[in-house]
Amino acid sequence: MSQLSLPALHASHAGIWLSGPNGPRPVGRGEAIARASETPHLLLNAPLTGQRLGYPEVSGLDLLELFAFIHPARFVVPTVAGLAADLGLEAPADDAAAAALLPAIAARLLDVLGDDAWAEREGAWTSNATLQRLGWAWAGIVGQRIRRPERAERMLFSRLEQWEESAERPPPGLIRLGDGEAEARLDLLTGAGSEQRQGQRAFAAAASQAFAPRDRRDAPNLLLAEAGTGIGKTLAYLAPASLWAEKAGGTVWVSTYTKALQRQLDAEGRRIVPDATERKRRIVVRKGRENYLCLLNLEDALQGSFSGRAAVLAQLIGRWAAYTKDGDMVGGDLPGWLPSLFRRAGATALTDRRGECVYAGCPHYRRCFIERAERAARGADLVIANHALVMVSAARGRLAGGLERIVFDEGHHLFDAADSTFAVALSGAETIELRRWIIGPERASRGRRRGLSARLMDVCSYDDQGAAALEGAIQAAHALPADGWLGRVVEGAPWGPLESLFGAVRGTVLARARAEDAGYGLETELAEPDGALVSAAAAALEALESLQRPLAALRMRLEAVLEEAPDWLDGAARARVEGAIAGLTWRGGAVVAWGQLLARVGGAPDPDFVDWLNLDRVEGRELDVGLQRRWLDPTRPLAKAVLEPAHGVVVTSATLRGGEEGWDVAENRTGAAHLAGSPFHFHAPSPFDYAANAEVLVVTDVRQGDLAALANAYARLIAAANGGTLGLFTAVQRLKAVHARIADRLARDRLPLLAQHVDPIDTGTLVDMFRADPAASLLGTDALRDGVDVPGESLRLVVMERVPWPRPTVLHAARRLAGGGSAYDDRVVKARLAQAFGRLIRRQGDRGTFVILSAACPSRLLTAFPEGVQVSRVPLDEAIGRVGAAQGGLPGAAHGGREVEGTSGTLRS
Ligand code: SF4
Repeated sequence: MSQLSLPALHASHAGIWLSGPNGPRPVGRGEAIARASETPHLLLNAPLTGQRLGYPEVSGLDLLELFAFIHPARFVVPTVAGLAADLGLEAPADDAAAAALLPAIAARLLDVLGDDAWAEREGAWTSNATLQRLGWAWAGIVGQRIRRPERAERMLFSRLEQWEESAERPPPGLIRLGDGEAEARLDLLTGAGSEQRQGQRAFAAAASQAFAPRDRRDAPNLLLAEAGTGIGKTLAYLAPASLWAEKAGGTVWVSTYTKALQRQLDAEGRRIVPDATERKRRIVVRKGRENYLCLLNLEDALQGSFSGRAAVLAQLIGRWAAYTKDGDMVGGDLPGWLPSLFRRAGATALTDRRGECVYAGCPHYRRCFIERAERAARGADLVIANHALVMVSAARGRLAGGLERIVFDEGHHLFDAADSTFAVALSGAETIELRRWIIGPERASRGRRRGLSARLMDVCSYDDQGAAALEGAIQAAHALPADGWLGRVVEGAPWGPLESLFGAVRGTVLARARAEDAGYGLETELAEPDGALVSAAAAALEALESLQRPLAALRMRLEAVLEEAPDWLDGAARARVEGAIAGLTWRGGAVVAWGQLLARVGGAPDPDFVDWLNLDRVEGRELDVGLQRRWLDPTRPLAKAVLEPAHGVVVTSATLRGGEEGWDVAENRTGAAHLAGSPFHFHAPSPFDYAANAEVLVVTDVRQGDLAALANAYARLIAAANGGTLGLFTAVQRLKAVHARIADRLARDRLPLLAQHVDPIDTGTLVDMFRADPAASLLGTDALRDGVDVPGESLRLVVMERVPWPRPTVLHAARRLAGGGSAYDDRVVKARLAQAFGRLIRRQGDRGTFVILSAACPSRLLTAFPEGVQVSRVPLDEAIGRVGAAQGGLPGAAHGGREVEGTSGTLRS
């Protein structure tokens, strides 16, 4: 094994340890910082170590960077125990042992460099030579251990597989799955000898109906299915979906809201198509293009447009690019923790966020991950995607053959996904982005950012009308905000009509928004605008119309060029023109929507929409300002753009009806209510015995607003449960305040506390760390309420600090008014409570307690929990006793009825 005589530094909330030849020893903060500044220390996750030390600048030999270099696309939990498990070392018993283990981890990793069986060797020598020039801390040590290849290594880009063009798929056959076929396929998927689950079989049979030929135009076969946790709903719908795809020769899109479920579905693919090569062809994961690595951007970064630490990150991402399954940088096989090690410098600039793709004009077009994923999806049986991508693709009509068969899992999120997809935002940030897309860089800037004229240069040199329209668009785009717009708006010295508009919007928001929101986002209704705002809106509208005309003319001209197909239009130019048309359609549509929003300033409101003015701020710093528009009911455009054109749709969730008895809520929240036909309904309750395995405690004596008491309650509950706690907050500030008060104290009892918005780690990685350590607890906000799937021991207590009432925004007020007032709020809260409770019992044998630290929780909301679950109002001491007792067996005591009185609690009606 490699011998390393380097010291190691480990810091947690419990303390700081240095480890040298004489073993580990606890040290003070000052000494640790001084030592780490003198000599590079081995450490694991420098930003996190720096945060624990209270010295963010700490640097050293980060083992995670070494891991990312050696095993670029391999999953590992980024903790000492996680790396130890991956490398076959024993997990450390405590923090001192963790410090002592760092050199052994380094030695194990460095040994790989000399191993002939090292699978990711190709490219490593060349990459390390560049990293050495960039000053990467590990480069010297790695360079001593890595063999110089006999021949020069192939360039990264030539090592990537090329995609193949294939003929367009014929339309799917019109078939109907016969009785029992879906169940037979399900048996095949679940495997011989597995226990038959009746709910799952019934769901598979019900889902078959959605794949039958539809009887009426604009009326898909729609199944709304509420399938309780534990039914096995993914295989239940994958059975008929995969069978239909095979028999009909068509594609089924399976759409999720969370990345966790997308990953799970991808893994289930092994059951459907066991052969890996075949599976790659038939089951494809698709995400929005902004998730994928753009090779042209990477090439730019590798060739010098990135410097310092960002350049090191680009090299490590270059290593990953050669080994990744699909080039997905967000939730794919790029470790989520890698960009955070570099404080996120540069990672997003490597994706195609701004729509600057030059398509076939790109030297890497035939190897492009995005193009490959798009092509693969065209011939796949199953495409695993997300709600946003499905809606955007359907709305923009960009998929050949359309989206005819769709399964929406996590269907309770359709409303929110549609709400964002069909939103209109006319803000400084949005409009400057359009300016850049049209004009390109306006001052010396590195990188390859190019405007529309550079992207369409060859087309316009042949086509005069196109050139004239392009010139008109560029001229008109000068009316949009330019660099430095926000500073000018704040100082009251705007340039041009759009900046003037944002100045007037900002003035109105500051004058009218509620003062208690100081420091954070402000908003006010778009009502009774003053004269300054009305005239600014009129001038801005005129400017947008002047832009919209040449953009539309250019698009039409490009479409004509494609149709005429002149001699000079080779394959590369055609692809570029097609890309420009798609961009112009989308952005032209946005300009039209902005115009409609502006036309309403000073006029009568449109009852279909909710409009407001907003000023985005974080801790007093202004970020953006503009006008916002949402559909009052976003399921209307959802039904029109996505559901009506489809032939068969399944919408499923464990909580589709939001705890209500009837199907009205589900039909209203999914768009089914706007369709001509009636949907099928299916319901299968969870097979779990919630009453025996879970209980709900409403704590009656933690005073709202008393942060010290709240923190104390969290600490005591986490200690009673021995970790394994998910703490959910409705406000980031309170989360931070509670974390600051209790993290050290819990760490001393070996109960690590992780926290969203505090730890410099992405949420997905935090959940991985939480899942891997049964003693760990995790604090978080909304995203964790239903994005966390942690079955088993690691999650046994959920603590909500407050009832998750909706925030009183302009949008909420409008929907509340339209949706029945407080009944609307109740529905929202009950759905949230049901989702949060759903984190607790994920599989057979899970047990746990759900605690709400708010005596003000109305009893009418408590029906959100599964039937039979015991709900008690108890003081904190008793809750702690019950949580402690639950570690041995749940529930703490036998009670009848849904809600019972604790020893000193009060029953509320
Ligand atoms: S084709 Fe477009 S997205 Fe793909 S690598 Fe080239 S520029 Fe990037």
